[in-house]
Amino acid sequence: MTLAVGVIGTGNIGVYHARRLASQISGAQVTAVFDVATERAAAVAKEVGAVAHRSWTELVEATEVEAVLIASPGPLHAEQVLACIAAGKPVLCEKPLATTGEDCLKVIAAEVAFGRRLVQVGFMRRYDRAYRVVKAAIDDGNIGQPLLAHMVHRNASVPDSFTSDMSMTDSVIHEIDTIRWLFGQEIVTTTVVASKPSPQTAGRLRDPQLVLLELADGAVVDVEVFVNCQYGYDVRCEIVGSTGTVSMDNPSTTSLLRNGQRIETVPADWRVRFDTAYQDELQEWVNGLTAGTADGPSSWDGYAAAVVANSAVSALADGARTEVTLVDRPGLYT
Ligand code: NAP
Repeated sequence: MTLAVGVIGTGNIGVYHARRLASQISGAQVTAVFDVATERAAAVAKEVGAVAHRSWTELVEATEVEAVLIASPGPLHAEQVLACIAAGKPVLCEKPLATTGEDCLKVIAAEVAFGRRLVQVGFMRRYDRAYRVVKAAIDDGNIGQPLLAHMVHRNASVPDSFTSDMSMTDSVIHEIDTIRWLFGQEIVTTTVVASKPSPQTAGRLRDPQLVLLELADGAVVDVEVFVNCQYGYDVRCEIVGSTGTVSMDNPSTTSLLRNGQRIETVPADWRVRFDTAYQDELQEWVNGLTAGTADGPSSWDGYAAAVVANSAVSALADGARTEVTLVDRPGLYT
């Protein structure tokens, strides 16, 4: 059986996912695409052998679409996911699920009313093989009780349109989801301190920032986010447990030994670092839908991550330790 997927949004990540679905994922094909940038959508449709639709609503309703991948800008996600649920079609929505906790709750309410899970959120780090080794070390008890984590999230650069709040809602949201998944705990408070700004971003961006997350069981996590570090894409973590630690370094892509020095490269960007994770994310999504199971990051995970990210935005603005309040988790997500 081949799953017919419609892709909404053919920008950076939409075209990357569409090409992969069309050529590297077994059991899937791209049958429809939509983007307001119609020429871009037409070019992608031609490349992957799909129909370019005139609107995203038409794509969701189309009979040749069995499942939808949403890669449009975040503020559009909630409405598009709700339309997929109304049509009874499974959907893989890039992060964020929605930009506000309230909109995430509308998605949760619709999915609960539908009676089974249709929505997966694109937290692809859960599919990364190195993160999975970290997760297994914790779950197997190899470091005792996890107590602390230190995390680093650095990008070489971001466009001028990137704001200080987006460091939380676009970047740290990945660490927020990863920590919830690794520790199996909700995040209950956020504190954010902006450093002296890098000269590359001074005047327009508070960068770098340090984020402190406290978990429901008392564990504590610090995250450094630095979105204009200049030298590459650098994502690392160390989980400190009661009897050991487990850490995930930045995988080096090459190393050069010369003149008494060892010079290693770091990934240029998220595509290089997480390419295999995106592959495994999409393949497991397609396999799960074909087998009738849905166990990837859920609407609940999208909701919790969005609420924590927005709490961190408030924490930076107010300069205060900010409590995170979540509604009770519906049974569909336990
Ligand atoms: P992007 O390059 O701006 O692509 C978004 C595309 O959607 C653009 O072509 C945009 O057209 C189009 N669009 C605008 N309005 C639309 C509408 N009503 N319906 C359908 N498409 C519409 O953004 P991106 O970097 O690909 O990011 C897209 C989403 O993926 C974001 O939520 C982002 O956070 C997420 N993302 C996730 C990861 C990850 O690691 N999981 C990585 C990258 C991005 P215009 O350019 O004409 O506005």
